Amino acid sequence: MNKQIIYPGTFDPITNGHIDIIERALLLFDRVIIAVAADSKKNARKFDSNTRISLIREVFIDNPNVKVQEISGLLVDFAKSVGVNIILRGLRAVSDFEYEFQLANMNKHLAPQIETLFLTASEKYTYISASMVKEVAALGGDISALVPKAVAKALTLSNYCP
Ligand code: ADP
Repeated sequence: MNKQIIYPGTFDPITNGHIDIIERALLLFDRVIIAVAADSKKNARKFDSNTRISLIREVFIDNPNVKVQEISGLLVDFAKSVGVNIILRGLRAVSDFEYEFQLANMNKHLAPQIETLFLTASEKYTYISASMVKEVAALGGDISALVPKAVAKALTLSNYCP
């Protein structure tokens, strides 16, 4: 059986914490489908969806078991459309739990057949969030240990031409 899981998120931008979750999921599943949230008027993003997707594709260029797709509608509708009924999310700290629990239960309400599976962040990545990385980069801090090279380059460039 081809076991697949969907990892949804904004990935603005992808960090080493996300990558760790994806690599660990690949030990349990045959394929990880990364579902990247489309651009939204309500939530401003640092990078548009094309850039967020390209950066993820660049990271996993050699791994045919990672697929990247943009989603604009409900996650459960996307899951149904690709025939996958497991959603992956990461938990870094207790502070993530409340939101993640609410999200998982809302998705369960909308589509009872879909399960959410959580992987806890590896200890060395618990403090990494995309928003914190953006802030450190904007202030000129060293982000080389927090994100892949392509992302570090994109963040540096975007800080010169915001
Ligand atoms: P969203 O905007 O939907 O929260 P993100 O792109 O910020 O999406 O994150 C996607 C998922 O990855 C979330 O479940 C988030 O908790 C998890 N995540 C983010 N950073 C890390 C990390 N450093 N370690 C483990 N999981 C993480």
